[in-house]
Amino acid sequence: MARLVLEHLSKTFAAPGGRKVSAVARLNLTVTDGELLTLVGPSGSGKTTLLRLIAGLETADEGAISVGGERVEKLAPAARDVAMVFQSRTLFPHLTARENLASGLRWRKSPREEIESRVRQTAELLGLSDCLDQLPETLSGGQAQRVALGRALALRPRLLLLDEPLAQLDAPLRAQLRRDLKTLHRQFGFTMVFVTHDQAEAMTLGDRVAVMNGGALQQAASPGEIYEQPANRFVAGFFGTPPMNFVRGVIAADGGRLEFHESTSVADGAGFSLLLDPERATALAKFAGQEIILGIRPEHLALRTAGESPGGSIPATVELVEPLGAEEHIHLRTAAHPLVTVERARHRWQPGQRTLVGFAAAGLQFFDAKPPGGRLA
Ligand code: ADP
Ligand code: MG
Repeated sequence: MARLVLEHLSKTFAAPGGRKVSAVARLNLTVTDGELLTLVGPSGSGKTTLLRLIAGLETADEGAISVGGERVEKLAPAARDVAMVFQSRTLFPHLTARENLASGLRWRKSPREEIESRVRQTAELLGLSDCLDQLPETLSGGQAQRVALGRALALRPRLLLLDEPLAQLDAPLRAQLRRDLKTLHRQFGFTMVFVTHDQAEAMTLGDRVAVMNGGALQQAASPGEIYEQPANRFVAGFFGTPPMNFVRGVIAADGGRLEFHESTSVADGAGFSLLLDPERATALAKFAGQEIILGIRPEHLALRTAGESPGGSIPATVELVEPLGAEEHIHLRTAAHPLVTVERARHRWQPGQRTLVGFAAAGLQFFDAKPPGGRLA
């Protein structure tokens, strides 16, 4: 068990044409002892590079890596007591599942009795006891991935790094292994960093979620905080199905009150306006006259028919309805911006219908219109 501390960690690669790619940029992150941190970001955001730096498979350009209070960035991989499970299956094809499970321990020259008991325990834990004598080619995808995981677990590392270990499995198996991993983590309590590009997987698995984009850490926080208080537009838009709605507009003072006006590119077309409650108005007063981005999650929008009380709502047209069984995703058009909302009542809306959209005041979020789009209120 160990606490992991990354300080000012950077790694650049030479790219074709003499360019430089900043794979990890001045990254600071602490993973507490026994924590399960999920690291999430789009493809190419630097997740694998970061894990390889921690494991010692890449050398950082600058920065410090501590595991359990010990500086490790100059140590060889084997001396770090860190285990890594890779995305692509890396079992030895000519060794049985049992031998694969034992391979890391053998390489460490652990005593025979210890190897045997660890392999037996690990196999039981992962439900592999019945296939220990099989070669990898005869294992199912799920079994093979469990063996790869078991080989790392058998080492009882103080820090376990997993690089998209479930990405190649189909959805039901992935969900099952995700639950198993969460249970295993609770039993063993080792420190764990789990990489995924799947925002839902990051949320369901992690004690905390760290979000990367373009080599830079965007935010590290609990799943709830990431969802409810995203640090910037990137994080806000990355999580949620369907994703958060964004509307460009300006904050305008009208008498003593503050309003958000939707911006439109149509010369004569008036955008919609929303009156801000006193608390938001105070927080946003200094941005009056400036362009700003309004963010609102689909579940904070509610559709109404024209006859219902229209207080605080704006006109929109239904463009597309996506039924998902328990709910429907309703795609709408306003004066200038598309919106999507989630409705629990089914079969109520048809494309072409005119409707009114109500905005839940508590769900309004505001971001800087200029990159990196920091959260304003
Ligand atoms: P992720 O795992 O999030 O998809 P990676 O860490 O694999 O991202 O890659 C981050 C960036 O660094 C990408 O632009 C990738 O092309 C680049 N990169 C990674 N490894 C190398 C390498 N060995 N040589 C050159 N560029 C690399
Ligand atoms: Mg990767």
